[in-house]
Amino acid sequence: MNIHEYQGKELLRKYGVSVPNGKVAYTPKEAVDAAKELGTEINVVKAQIHAGGRGKAGGVKVAKNLDEVRTYAEEILGKTLVTHQTGPEGKEVKRLLIEEGCDIKQEYYVGLVMDRATSRVVMMASEEGGTEIEEVAEKTPEKIFKEVIDPVVGLSAYQARRLAFNINMPKELVNKTVKFMMGLYTAFVEKDCSIAEINPLVTTGDGNVMALDAKLNFDPNALFRHKDIVEFRDLDEEDSKEIEASKYDLSYISLDGNIGCMVNGAGLAMSTMDIIKHYGGDPANFLDVGGGATAEKVTEAFKIILSDKNVKGIFVNIFGGIMKCDVIAEGVIEATKQVGLELPLVVRLEGTNVDLGKKLLSESGLNITAAESMADGAEKIVSLVK
Ligand code: ADP
Ligand code: MG
Repeated sequence: MNIHEYQGKELLRKYGVSVPNGKVAYTPKEAVDAAKELGTEINVVKAQIHAGGRGKAGGVKVAKNLDEVRTYAEEILGKTLVTHQTGPEGKEVKRLLIEEGCDIKQEYYVGLVMDRATSRVVMMASEEGGTEIEEVAEKTPEKIFKEVIDPVVGLSAYQARRLAFNINMPKELVNKTVKFMMGLYTAFVEKDCSIAEINPLVTTGDGNVMALDAKLNFDPNALFRHKDIVEFRDLDEEDSKEIEASKYDLSYISLDGNIGCMVNGAGLAMSTMDIIKHYGGDPANFLDVGGGATAEKVTEAFKIILSDKNVKGIFVNIFGGIMKCDVIAEGVIEATKQVGLELPLVVRLEGTNVDLGKKLLSESGLNITAAESMADGAEKIVSLVK
């Protein structure tokens, strides 16, 4: 789960990670009031969306007085920002962070991620801050330094110091940098983050080390023990189909293609997407209806797939192990009746009660193409949507 920059900074402050003072604002008036309250001469008006690259897209503006705060707030609120992380449709700005302007000396990068190769948390740092770290990784990978963190010991001070020296942090600021990194790591572990990215981490004219940006991601499986994080959730930033799916406990991720997939089991869902690609098609979603899905759940899953206007055909690929094929068939029939399906539908069933399932489908009078195998089904749906 993703949160906004201002929420991330609020959280980090509690861990002793230094961040500029700032306030959230939903209207231009609130923005001006916030700037008054901050009492600083220079303020920065920052669009709050769940995506980076806002600066380049015009979503971060430095205001030299209260009039400028109002002008920029009016300009940015309601605007659809298109950044390299939003996709071409962009994201509408509904909140702003009004933050004290910072006298930046230099910009650095610090991030924490889960490294699957070592099964450990890794802290990365670079003196190439402010730019996209992906670009640094591609062009000058030698400028990214990493420390693999032992989960029992945690981030050691010597590791943080080594990173600070490697990124050429001025000597007099190394201790502050170490404190910053330790605080960031503690927040990451205590709050079950999956990503924590500070880009840029800056040194300031008055000798401070602080986070000017904060991107925190949380492991959704751990949210049950972090009520405070759940409260940060902003449904406006999430895909409405994914929100709907989560109500029914369906694992659904929306994608760019036009073939809707309904599958049980994450592994089968992944390979279904692969095989659609293999035959030249593009999946519109990942969907795992789970092992013990009911007809009602299947119906909801169907409705969610169909609410995606890009979908031109549906491929149902079910292995009935715990799940029975006749239950799936009932769900498919019920859903197609409820939503009045006009798109091509290919169904491949295998496993428990498969004959009954197939019989129900063929007697339903619905226009369903039966598939003999996964490959057969994928080939059929790809040619039907073309
Ligand atoms: P994004 O990564 O989405 O573009 P950032 O928060 O990193 O957004 O802001 C982009 C740039 O704007 C930063 O690299 C920094 O140079 C500048 N900036 C951001 N916040 C402040 C601030 N409080 N004071 C001064 N400059 C800032
Ligand atoms: Mg940034």
